[in-house]
Amino acid sequence: MIELTWAEIDDRLEMMELTGTKVWGIPRGGAIVAGMARRYGAVIVGTPQEAELALDDVIDSGATAKVTLDRYGLQTLAVVNKIAEGIDSWVHFPWEEPAETEMADHVTRMMQYWGEETGRDGLIKTPERVVRSWSELYAGYTMDAEAALTWFEDDTDEMIVVKNITFYSTCEHHLLPFFGTINVGYIPNGSILGASKVGRVAHIFSRRLQVQERLARQIGQSLEPHVLGVAVNVQAQHFCMMARGINQDTSCLVTNYLTGYFRDRPDTRAEFFTAISG
Ligand code: ZN
Repeated sequence: MIELTWAEIDDRLEMMELTGTKVWGIPRGGAIVAGMARRYGAVIVGTPQEAELALDDVIDSGATAKVTLDRYGLQTLAVVNKIAEGIDSWVHFPWEEPAETEMADHVTRMMQYWGEETGRDGLIKTPERVVRSWSELYAGYTMDAEAALTWFEDDTDEMIVVKNITFYSTCEHHLLPFFGTINVGYIPNGSILGASKVGRVAHIFSRRLQVQERLARQIGQSLEPHVLGVAVNVQAQHFCMMARGINQDTSCLVTNYLTGYFRDRPDTRAEFFTAISG
C-alpha cells in the first residue's frame, strides 16, 4: 500500500504547473485536489464544459479518464497516475478512511448486492471480521519463502519425503477456497531442510491467490537450487468446482511438479509415489 501525505500531494500539484489553467476536479477525489491546486494558480471551474483540463486524485484503470475525454474532450491529469507510474497497489489518500474501513465498506456493499439486510444483528461486525481474516488468509504476500528455508549440512543421500501437509488457499479465478494436502520429496545435495520448513513454505505460497499448478511449482522451485531433485504432489478440493459450475462435490484435483532425479529416473519417481500413497 502507498500512503500519500498532504505534503506529497501538494508537491505533485506544484509540479503540474497549472497557473492560469481552467481546471475541473472530477468528483470526489479530484474536487479535493483541485481545491488544493488553487494555491498554484489553477482556475477552478464548476463544470467540465468550462474547463481546459480535468484533475483527479488517481488514475486507476484509465476508465474515468477515457470517459472524460470522450464526453467532454478533456485530458485528465492526476496526482497519481498508476498506469504511467507503473503502480499496481492500493494508493491511500489522507482524506480517505483507513484502508481497513474502506475495505469493510466494500464487504458491506457486496452483501447488499447479494440482497442482504446488512444492518441486522448477526452482520454488524461481519465486514470488520472479514477484513481481519484476510491478514491470515493472505498472509503469504508479506512472507519470504527463501528466508523461511534453513538448510543444514548433512551427508544423507536418500530421498526425504514430507507427507500430508495440510493447506488452505484461495483460487484466483473465483476467489473461493481450495484446500487439501501437499506431499514433498527431495534428494539432498549435501544439505537437508529443517523438518518444519517444507510446511512453512507451503503455507507461504498457499496464503495468496493461487492456482494449484503454480502452488506446486513455486514450492518445488524454492527447494530446487539446493537439491538433486524435488517432487511436489498437491491433492485438493476446489470450492469453485464443488459448490458452483459443474457441482462436482467429490472430485479431487491432483497436480505434480517434478524435477531432476524425479523427472529423469523412473525408479526415483516410483519410490516417491509409493511413499506418499496410503
Ligand atoms: Zn476456481
